[in-house]
Amino acid sequence: MIVEMRTGATPVEIDDVVQKVESLGLRVQLNLGTDKTVIAVVGSNTGQLSTDILAVLPGVESVVRIMKPYKLASREFKAENTLVSIDGIEIGGKRIVVMAGPCAVEDEGQIMEAARVVKESGACVLRGGAFKPRTSPFSFQGLAKDGLELLARARQRFDILVVTELVDPNDISLISKYADIIQVGSRNMQNFTLLTSIGRSSCPVVLKRGFSCTITEWLTAADYLLAEGNNQVILCERGIRTFEDSTRFSLDISSIPVIKKVSHLPVIVDPSHAAGHYSLVPAIAKAAVAAGADGLLIEVHPNPKEALVDGLQSLTPSDFNRLMGELRTIAKSVDRYI
Ligand code: PEP
Ligand code: MN
Repeated sequence: MIVEMRTGATPVEIDDVVQKVESLGLRVQLNLGTDKTVIAVVGSNTGQLSTDILAVLPGVESVVRIMKPYKLASREFKAENTLVSIDGIEIGGKRIVVMAGPCAVEDEGQIMEAARVVKESGACVLRGGAFKPRTSPFSFQGLAKDGLELLARARQRFDILVVTELVDPNDISLISKYADIIQVGSRNMQNFTLLTSIGRSSCPVVLKRGFSCTITEWLTAADYLLAEGNNQVILCERGIRTFEDSTRFSLDISSIPVIKKVSHLPVIVDPSHAAGHYSLVPAIAKAAVAAGADGLLIEVHPNPKEALVDGLQSLTPSDFNRLMGELRTIAKSVDRYI
């Protein structure tokens, strides 16, 4: 349920609504906008609550029952776009933020060279997994803490932000020391313990879409982060599983305008895991920018032939550089820049 306060509602009126809600055993999330305050009423049984109980209170403009399961990620709760701001880099504004790098951190030479080339081509975030949740337990699982240390060294040397995946909630304080953005992988989108612990931190987070999850489930998962107070949430479309098997996953390009319509959160696109093949990545990346994505997450490896993970879908430095040039043209045509 969403309570929209009148323009100019006083702090006392807002507080009265909050107290009323809390006396009913429910929780609130406040969106103190510049013009208007919006109060989300959250709890498992808001459906049984009469809207009149709140509508009669002084200063209340309207009370709307949200039929969707997600509340805090919805545009009803927050009309204006969320800007996630990290060290002067804004995600969700005019700039299209490109995050690029290898699937996994493999060794010092590899991650340093990756950081150098992606930065030189205009990426402002370095990606690289230190913890790799793999489909098979026998595949390379990542360098763990050593990988985080290498990422931090690359961050310092090349003045670039770092995004890396968190798998275990116990590693959150470790990872937030080394990374600027925490990634939640597709397979963990509905790992609610993980989401709750990231929600309690203030670290910006990229929430990848579960490859079998609907947009509604994705936004409801985002509510887990937002409900704990972390509003630095970036969604990432990375392809869903369909009957089509000529690509690794099917990139749901339409999720971008849908997210823009129903949510205030920024959305980026990972064309690499959707494509599964380097030759398909540029076209999908360009389509994403044209469709309104706020950023891209692209796998780039200094030498894809030698990659321990996802070499087939990784771009070479020169292919990435060429793609960045093409993306700049597309960005300009949709009134954005890279
Ligand atoms: C990744 O980005 O390295 C990754 C494993 O992606 P996903 O969770 O989308 O499969
Ligand atoms: Mn990968």
